[in-house]
Amino acid sequence: MARREFTKTVYAQIVKRALHPKDGICCEGCGLVLGAKPYHIDHTIPDALQIDKSRKLTADDGKLLGVECCHKPKTADDVAVIAEAKRREERHLGMKRKTQPIKSAPFARSEKPQRQAKAELPRRSLYRETQP
Ligand SMILES: [Zn+2]
Repeated sequence: MARREFTKTVYAQIVKRALHPKDGICCEGCGLVLGAKPYHIDHTIPDALQIDKSRKLTADDGKLLGVECCHKPKTADDVAVIAEAKRREERHLGMKRKTQPIKSAPFARSEKPQRQAKAELPRRSLYRETQP
């Protein structure tokens, strides 16, 4: 299912919410004053995990996050969470994911190492010699 994006109106609502009257735009994750630093509007719940996609996104579904301070780390987290959720769903539905063979060339077979020639040790008797 396609990822839903925020409409211009909702986007503006979120930016206005993050706009501090004196400091300007602040990160809604950590409160950092962003000024001219880049920011993203983040889906509070990753869109790929939403079940009801017909509902319209509202300003409550998004958070203004600074790219450097909060958005980058959260996106990396989301990717892992989404992958895990997909695997869980597949297991639940009994779907088997095809395993793909590794595409790279296999390692070249190596020669078996030659046996090292060693001087033979003197034989030891297995049993202790008993005195008659
Ligand atoms: Zn932040």
